[in-house]
Amino acid sequence: MAEKLVYFFGGGKAEGTGKMKELLGGKGANLAEMANLDIPVPAGFTITTAVCTYYYEKGRTFPSTLEKDVQTALEGMESVMGAKFGDSPNPLLVSVRSGSRSSMPGMMETVLNVGLCSSTIPGLIAQTGNSRFVFDSYRRLIMMYSDVVMEKAAGIEVAEGKEIRQQLDRMLGEMKKARGRASDADLTADDLQELVAAFKAKVKEVLGKDFPDDPREQLWGGIGAVFASWNGKRALSYRRIEGIPDEWGTAVTVQAMVFGNKGDTSATGVAFTRNPATGENKFYGEWLPNAQGEDVVAGIRTPNPLNEDTQNEQNRHLPSLQKAMPEAYIQLDGIRTALGRHYKDMMDIEFTVQDGRLWMLQCRVGKRTGTAALNMAMDMLAEGLIPKEEAVLRVSPAQLDELLHPIVDPNAEKNARPIARGLPAGPGGACGQIVFTAGDAVEWTKRGKKVILVREETNPEDVEGMRAAAGILTARGGMTSHAALVARGWGKCCIVGAGGLEVDLHRKTVTAEGNVLREGDAITLNGTRGHVYSGSLPMMDATQNPRFVEFMALADSIRRLRVRTNADTPEDAAKARAFGAEGIGLFRTEHMFYGKGSEAPLFLLRKMIVSKDEPERRAALLELYPFVKKDIKDTLSVMDGLPVTIRLLDPPLHEFVPSGQEEREKLAKALGITVEQLALRADDLHESNPMMGHRGVRLGVTFPEITEMQVRAVFESAAELTALGKKVFPEIMVPVVGMASELVNQRVLVEKVHGEVCAKHGVRRIEHLFGTMIEVPRAALTADLIAGAAEFFSFGTNDLTQMTFGFSRDDTGTFVPEYLEKKLLPRDPFQVLDQEGVGQLVRMAVERGRSARPKLKVGICGEHGGEPSSVEFCHRVGMDYVSCSPYRVPIARLAAAQAVLREKGIRD
Ligand code: PEP
Ligand code: MG
Repeated sequence: MAEKLVYFFGGGKAEGTGKMKELLGGKGANLAEMANLDIPVPAGFTITTAVCTYYYEKGRTFPSTLEKDVQTALEGMESVMGAKFGDSPNPLLVSVRSGSRSSMPGMMETVLNVGLCSSTIPGLIAQTGNSRFVFDSYRRLIMMYSDVVMEKAAGIEVAEGKEIRQQLDRMLGEMKKARGRASDADLTADDLQELVAAFKAKVKEVLGKDFPDDPREQLWGGIGAVFASWNGKRALSYRRIEGIPDEWGTAVTVQAMVFGNKGDTSATGVAFTRNPATGENKFYGEWLPNAQGEDVVAGIRTPNPLNEDTQNEQNRHLPSLQKAMPEAYIQLDGIRTALGRHYKDMMDIEFTVQDGRLWMLQCRVGKRTGTAALNMAMDMLAEGLIPKEEAVLRVSPAQLDELLHPIVDPNAEKNARPIARGLPAGPGGACGQIVFTAGDAVEWTKRGKKVILVREETNPEDVEGMRAAAGILTARGGMTSHAALVARGWGKCCIVGAGGLEVDLHRKTVTAEGNVLREGDAITLNGTRGHVYSGSLPMMDATQNPRFVEFMALADSIRRLRVRTNADTPEDAAKARAFGAEGIGLFRTEHMFYGKGSEAPLFLLRKMIVSKDEPERRAALLELYPFVKKDIKDTLSVMDGLPVTIRLLDPPLHEFVPSGQEEREKLAKALGITVEQLALRADDLHESNPMMGHRGVRLGVTFPEITEMQVRAVFESAAELTALGKKVFPEIMVPVVGMASELVNQRVLVEKVHGEVCAKHGVRRIEHLFGTMIEVPRAALTADLIAGAAEFFSFGTNDLTQMTFGFSRDDTGTFVPEYLEKKLLPRDPFQVLDQEGVGQLVRMAVERGRSARPKLKVGICGEHGGEPSSVEFCHRVGMDYVSCSPYRVPIARLAAAQAVLREKGIRD
């Protein structure tokens, strides 16, 4: 390899910079940056990620020049640190750490104290006069190295509990017990010397090899193991969850060891330059005297508070660094200020105090909660540290989401094991008692209980129960299945398609991984991750932050895309307006037949559906009309001044045919027919594939009177509201169109009714638009022809995804998780728009549509309209608006603003 493979840092200078994360990994780049800022970092060097790529491409070997480059860098370290690697009287010890471009905390391996061996131990003891410290460091090296290098990197798989690390840990525990030592720190030098001898024998016995006694062998073993850990199990699954590409690779940083475990004037700690939970501008951290870094993060000892600001109930009695080591603290606080000013962000830092001298071991941009992200962005803007564009990029859409829903306490969740996993359909957390029917959900809620509705799947009759429940869990269904759509619309926590669940309605039990849960048992859902837990985990209150509004105003000042909402009731419309929706992009009229107050219209709809001929159907429609009109009129009224896209009926007919005997009897009676005759009519409605059957525009073509009734309701409502001084902008939208001819057919009906209503009200025109959904691939392909009859397009990417992939949107729970696991799909295409495939159709349809009608208004109303990466795509293809469920409106507003900034090349 011709390029530079190794970058040195130390002694107040560095070959790399903080900008070189791709090559040096986050850790290496930031160490270089700190060295350049003259912040005290122990000298070291970073082997680039390009070497990692080489290592995997060339059968786990290294470039031929690497050894020489490492040697040169090592010599540089030796001269800065005044000690020599492998030298007997004055040995230098090093740490070997991983570092990828974006931080993957705890996912890869680290080896500390490399270089300790039989020839360097006596020298270090003589030099420090502290044999306890030396043997403690050596036992740590053996524990880490045997685990990371000799077992994991060697690909040795062992049964749980039999790992070498566990075995050595047990020996350490036994030794403490036998000697009556309360903690690791109480073990004496003699104890530890004995322990390391036993450790080495154990390593030989278990792994069949001697523990390496040559510092160079240790060093290269460590380097190889860190590269190998890039493809370790933990790292792989973390990358999959976080969407980090496999090709990035990790860098390896080798750094001179400094010791926090040398005695009472030594210490180690972790800190954040601002509070990562609340965002408060206060130095926040934890430390331990006489310890190495891993002790703080591993949670073996309760760490001490860094300062007064960090004190809490658990650590109040422990001394702060501020009090115990005031000089080191003052220096650290100065570094905190310098880092804050330099990075203009909240940094997560690791430090060590060795014999009273402070060293910085790491700094990186700190992870934070949604609340903290928001507060910090607004604070830093007010402090003049960052411009508004930067502030808008500082809060991720996912963090915003977190602010809008209660969540499961992450600390409690860390210690809990999920009993099932499903698709994260409705974000946030919920816990409650299990019920198995919608009726029970309503009933129990009325009695003041919090319930989780557990169903095999849901149907329209469950809606009331879904509304009442705190959360919803189904064994079947995909992200756009009914339960998911409805739950998301309400901002309700929901998990669907949890394939491992067995729901037994008769026994009222649900079984997951052998756990049998009964009605009334407590269960917790994390709808953001799709995890199900037995029992109730504590929740965190995502209180509305007053700065939220301020922050959103900043985002609004940047975005170009408009953001509308998918709302089906006047209440949802009002809520979405409060969240900043600028109109309704999808009003699904059939939703008036679900839920509260739906009995009467549902009955009439059923009557209409099973009518035998047109006159009977017209009679039923006439009865239905007042309900439809009221729904439309109320919604138009709530959205006064804003556009409302009203979609013509697109009902899954079979779902509306009653299945209960009592309801069938009532319906038969109303139609003057027998239950048997009704059953025959219902059979006629049966379709083999209802998703591609008699729905959408096809219904309007075959039963024009249905379209006429709805359009009349729209125009009458608009005319009446206009007369009252309201400003209404209805947009009539036809679903499931595949051909321009279908749209023309419906347009004729719309114009006819428009003329009639105008005449009745004595007006020339009722303001409106006529347009179509683009949700059938053929519509996208012939968009230029379709635009001839449409004033707007709205992409129904739920159906478009279904029909482009040929994946049934209601059945993806059965195979999509495995596709994701096997990496056949990068993301669930029903959640994140498939830009590569479905996206081509969208882009093409926008272009073709606008070529025929330049002023064509274009939006999206599929579920993707509230998903950040899809919103960015919609921005790029030049859409006018996105439309999403009310709770996702703020997320879409932010994503739309961030899309503008990224397009301008402003990166976070
Ligand atoms: C769609 O298909 O994307 C859409 C919005 O319509 P529905 O989900 O009601 O089929
Ligand atoms: Mg659709």
